[in-house]
Amino acid sequence: MSLTAAQMQTARANNPIYKTKLGAAWLGYKASDAAADSIEFALAVHDFQLSLKLTADGMWGPNTNDAAGKLTLTPNEVSYAIQRNPYWQAKLGSEWAGDSISLEPVNSSLFAEAVYSFQLSKSLGTDGICGPETNAAAHDAEYHPPVGTEYILVDGKPLPCSFKVVSPDEPGAMVFTSGFYPTPLLKPTLFVLHWDVCRSSRSCFDVLSARNLSVQFMGDSDGTIYQGIDPVKGACWHAGTVNRWAWGIEICDPVYLRDQDTSHPRPISTLRVRNDNSKILGFYSEQIDAVVKLCHWVCEYAGIPKQLPAKRGKPGDVWNSYFAPQPPKYKWDVHGFTGVCAHFHQDDQKIDPGMELWPALTASGFTIVEV
Ligand SMILES: [Zn+2]
Repeated sequence: MSLTAAQMQTARANNPIYKTKLGAAWLGYKASDAAADSIEFALAVHDFQLSLKLTADGMWGPNTNDAAGKLTLTPNEVSYAIQRNPYWQAKLGSEWAGDSISLEPVNSSLFAEAVYSFQLSKSLGTDGICGPETNAAAHDAEYHPPVGTEYILVDGKPLPCSFKVVSPDEPGAMVFTSGFYPTPLLKPTLFVLHWDVCRSSRSCFDVLSARNLSVQFMGDSDGTIYQGIDPVKGACWHAGTVNRWAWGIEICDPVYLRDQDTSHPRPISTLRVRNDNSKILGFYSEQIDAVVKLCHWVCEYAGIPKQLPAKRGKPGDVWNSYFAPQPPKYKWDVHGFTGVCAHFHQDDQKIDPGMELWPALTASGFTIVEV
């Protein structure tokens, strides 16, 4: 249910008046940055009100403003937490300790807000989601991240890493046996991020194999990284002109909204590549965590800077002319760029993997540089 034409008219007329009346106390930006008299703003207010179970009339009056003042998570974070908390409740089963944090319904914004306050009090990361770490804190137990002998295999040697990797010599590995240059690529100068438009890394592996392509890594929906090749065996075919210099990862994401997994929904994201603001399926937070860690690992291993390319300060606005091999000898120098980039930086026909990973990468220490 959305707004009726009459409600929309009233909301658009009154929203600027309330904005003036509330003055510095006005918190409407928590719903939307759009102009107070716009349709966009009224619709965002309507959604915001629904998420808080308020009367959804699209009007940012004193009641809605008060409710927003008590809110600590952004509306996007709240809607994501509302999806994720029931997931973790089911996944953690008898281990679930969410009810010691709040007795509000687990799929409610009030529950997410309570988790947020709890996280804040325990100096945990604040996302309003009672996942494994927050759950352990609610038990008053220490959180032990899953450990094992995690490693990436390079030239037959296991190099330790801090995230879950199924390496080529482990059970369940998916290893490419063709579809790559046989020359080793032990030290890349570039790490290219892709999404796979598949429902699982297994199906991504099958598709690439069938097309005689390959990639160094695949990042599955649960955050597990599959290493597709020991780089001593060859240089994978995943990013056209830069394959001889680049490692890559295909991150699992079916992308199209129609392919949403309703039992475990992905956050809805905005593409933001070359001014295309299409809505797409985003990554699960487990995937973002794993990919960011892998980016750091690759840069540290290969000795390349932790940087991302941009044009006029806009990482989503780079075209492939910057990434083509440079004549006369077709020696690739990419205007000197080395670091981590998106597939769309290398190929004008590509949009993957969108811009959703960039905030996490920059927050973790990657810098944005002009190319
Ligand atoms: Zn790609």
